[in-house]
Amino acid sequence: MVFKYNGEVKKRIEKIYEILKKEFGIPDVRRLHPLEELVLTILSQNTSDRNRDAAWKRLEKKFPKIESIMEADISEIEEAIKPAGLNRQKAKRIKEALQLIKNRFGKLDITLRGHELYDFLRSINGVGPKTAAVVALFSYGEPFFPVDTHIFRVSNRIPLAQEKTREKVQEKLTEIIPDRLKMEFHLLLIELGRKYCRPKPKCSICPLKNLCSYSWKSSER
Ligand code: SF4
Repeated sequence: MVFKYNGEVKKRIEKIYEILKKEFGIPDVRRLHPLEELVLTILSQNTSDRNRDAAWKRLEKKFPKIESIMEADISEIEEAIKPAGLNRQKAKRIKEALQLIKNRFGKLDITLRGHELYDFLRSINGVGPKTAAVVALFSYGEPFFPVDTHIFRVSNRIPLAQEKTREKVQEKLTEIIPDRLKMEFHLLLIELGRKYCRPKPKCSICPLKNLCSYSWKSSER
């Protein structure tokens, strides 16, 4: 189903963006090489940012070039990424992903764009909708809107998109968030989810309390 992107929705999104930008500041948008982003997002699955970063540092130190990860023994990758957890599964996924890219494009460079790029990323074992959208948005500047657990929760509450699955919310937000705001808005919603809109929300001190439907229902307000 295509979500209707009408003027009212647009105004609401712009307003939320302005409030969050005022609250948290303009987010620092990190742009990595696409394959680094891909490896990093595989490392980040089911772990904290801290553990992901520790694993990434060790991996970078051991394999300064991405090609060398592809050529390495899987046990060496496993050892390097231990802090990220699920290291056997993640090492296998990282190596297979790099091999798949090399086999398909003849080099470690994905030369597709738009939905072809997204669909190719999704075809890689272990790359779900969020990871594919993160790589497409942050490394290629393609207009996708990744939805993690924070954004899923926040979007259903405010609401921006009320859907039962993360994938459905991602489809809707990709449709309705203006392309020029996608990167910053994504980071701002995560910040909101971490600081205020936690599983147990802090509506009474949340900067969105006056325009969030959930806060009006919440007894905490
Ligand atoms: S007002 Fe409450 S439910 Fe709404 S976004 Fe803020 S913390 Fe979340």
